[in-house]
Amino acid sequence: MSRRSTEQEAPQPVHYGEAEGGGCDQPGCDNKEAYRCLYRDRRAVDCSWAACAEHLRVVEGRGYCLRHASIVEVLSLAASQGTQVSPPDLDNRCASLVMWTARDLDEPVVERLVRWGDADTSIINDPSIRYTRPDRLRQASGHWERVWALANRTGILLRVGIKVQDDRPEVVVLTGGPTDLLSLVPPWIERHLSGQAARVSQADLVERLAFQQQLLSALDTYVEKYGASYPNVLVPLRV
Ligand SMILES: [Zn+2]
Ligand SMILES: [Zn+2]
Repeated sequence: MSRRSTEQEAPQPVHYGEAEGGGCDQPGCDNKEAYRCLYRDRRAVDCSWAACAEHLRVVEGRGYCLRHASIVEVLSLAASQGTQVSPPDLDNRCASLVMWTARDLDEPVVERLVRWGDADTSIINDPSIRYTRPDRLRQASGHWERVWALANRTGILLRVGIKVQDDRPEVVVLTGGPTDLLSLVPPWIERHLSGQAARVSQADLVERLAFQQQLLSALDTYVEKYGASYPNVLVPLRV
């Protein structure tokens, strides 16, 4: 009896997010061993915060940053009372721009991957918007990205990404494999930056389609030139 209750009380192993090399984000903490916060909002945008075990809080066996731990606690309390609340959006304009752009591109990109693939390939369509932290050694800025890929048994053949960098929050970058294929400021942001008034919705739609078309043409040109399996190396894909 006592043995059973001990077993029941044994703590579940804590699930932490991906390990991050950059160290803990908590100001003043020097701990180099850090993990991503596991929070993912209702649009599948992941939290960019990484912290050491001491500066993460565990809620229901999962490690979150302090801010999201409180949110997850509220959500799980609501769930226990029979109310399902979806995780509130992360307030990040880079992530939102990736999301809006990727939402429009999803169908045409998947349609292309189907066309470019064959019986031996499969399509990876990961709706999550992930943050890659700044690489200080290479002086590269952090970025948010949404990825599609064509893969076969040996790995990724073609990786297509839409990303927005922290230091250029108004620019959408299309990537093919490891290459930046096209960097564009979406027309509605351009207009906003130049102080022009918003247009009526019909023109807005045309403009958005033209923006999509520019990105898709850049992707088509890349694949026409190099094929869907170039460079035929394994590109790491974080899923
Ligand atoms: Zn820490
Ligand atoms: Zn978080």
